[in-house]
Amino acid sequence: MTPDNYFSANYAEARQKFLEAVESAGVPVWKFPHPLKGPNGEDLATDIAWLGAKNAKRIVVAGSATHGVEGFCGSGCQTGFLTEGWANRLNPDTALVLVHANTPHGFAHERRVNEDNIDLNRNFIDFSDGPPDNPGYAELHPILVPESWDGAPRAEADAALENFKQTKGLREFQQITSRGQYTYPDGLFYGGTGPSWSRRTIEGFAGEHMSGAARIAVVDFHTGLGPRGYGEVIGRGGVGDPQYERTRAWYGDDVKSAALGNSASVRLNGTIDFGYRRACPDAEQTAITLEFGTLPLEEVHEAIRADNWLYAKGGGAASPHFKAIKQQTRAAFYGEESQWKTDIWSRGQEIIEQALTGINND
Ligand SMILES: [Zn+2]
Repeated sequence: MTPDNYFSANYAEARQKFLEAVESAGVPVWKFPHPLKGPNGEDLATDIAWLGAKNAKRIVVAGSATHGVEGFCGSGCQTGFLTEGWANRLNPDTALVLVHANTPHGFAHERRVNEDNIDLNRNFIDFSDGPPDNPGYAELHPILVPESWDGAPRAEADAALENFKQTKGLREFQQITSRGQYTYPDGLFYGGTGPSWSRRTIEGFAGEHMSGAARIAVVDFHTGLGPRGYGEVIGRGGVGDPQYERTRAWYGDDVKSAALGNSASVRLNGTIDFGYRRACPDAEQTAITLEFGTLPLEEVHEAIRADNWLYAKGGGAASPHFKAIKQQTRAAFYGEESQWKTDIWSRGQEIIEQALTGINND
C-alpha cells in the first residue's frame, strides 16, 4: 500500500480499509452502528481502534469526519497509522486512539452535517445553560437559504449576500455564520437542541475507556480552511492560557487560535474537545483542530451554502442541481490528486508524532 491508497473514494471503501488495517495491526476495535444507512444502503458506524496500552495514562485521540465529508482526509491518515505500524512505536503507558467517522452519516452522504443537519462541532455545548445566541444570523438566514436555486429568488439572495459582505466585511460575515446558531434547524452551522447520536457515542466511549487518563491530546482532522494541502494547527485559548502554551510548545510557534484572531476559523462553542473534557474531567487536555486547506474560503463557504440549500429546500437527490452540488461539496473538502494526499499524510504524521512527544514530555 502506498500513501495514495490509504485514501478512499467513498465512505464504504474508507471504512473497509480502516477495518482491514485494524485487523492487520491486530489492535482492538469498537464498532458503534449508526441507526441509518448510507446512500447505497451501506451500514454506517463510528469505529474506534485502540493502539497501545489499554489503561494508558497518556492518550492521543485522532478523530476523523467530525464534519462528515471532511472524513476522507482523516480516515486516510488513520488507515496509514495502522498500516505503518504505529501501534508498535508507542511508549509504555501511552495510547493512540483512532476514532473513525465521528459523523458516519454525513461522511457516507458526503455532507458536512449529520443526519439532522447538525454541525457536530457546534453540538458539544452544555444545553442546560441554554444555547448561545447569534442575533446576526437571523438577518442572513433567508439570503443564505433562498427558496429556489434558480431565477429571481437566487439572484436576489446573492445580491443581498454580496451587499452584506461589501458593507460589513468578509470577516464579520464569517464570524456570524460559522459561529454556530441554534434557532434555525434548516440553516447553516446549526448546533441542534440536544446531544446528537455522535456526541452520545463519543462521550459514552470516552467516559468508559479514557476517564482514567491523566493527559489527553485531541487532534481532530478537518478540511476546508487554509492553504491547499497544508495542515494548520488551531489551538484553544490565548497567551497565558496553559492549554495554549502547551499547544505552542508541542506544535510550534505558528499555532493559530481564534482567541488571538490569527486563525482562519472563528472562536467556537461546542467543539468536540468539550465532549472529551466532559467525559474525562480529571485529565489535562490539549486539543487542536487540524485544518487542511482545499479551496479558497469563499468557495468553501458557497459549497456549504449550496449543500444546505439542496437538503433544506431542493429535495435532495430529486433536485436537478443534485449532481452539481455534490461535486461542488466534494471539491470543497477533499483533494482528489495524489499530491494533496501525499501532503496530508506527511503533515498528519508530523502532527501525531508531535502530539505523542508532547504528551510524553513536560
Ligand atoms: Zn471541519
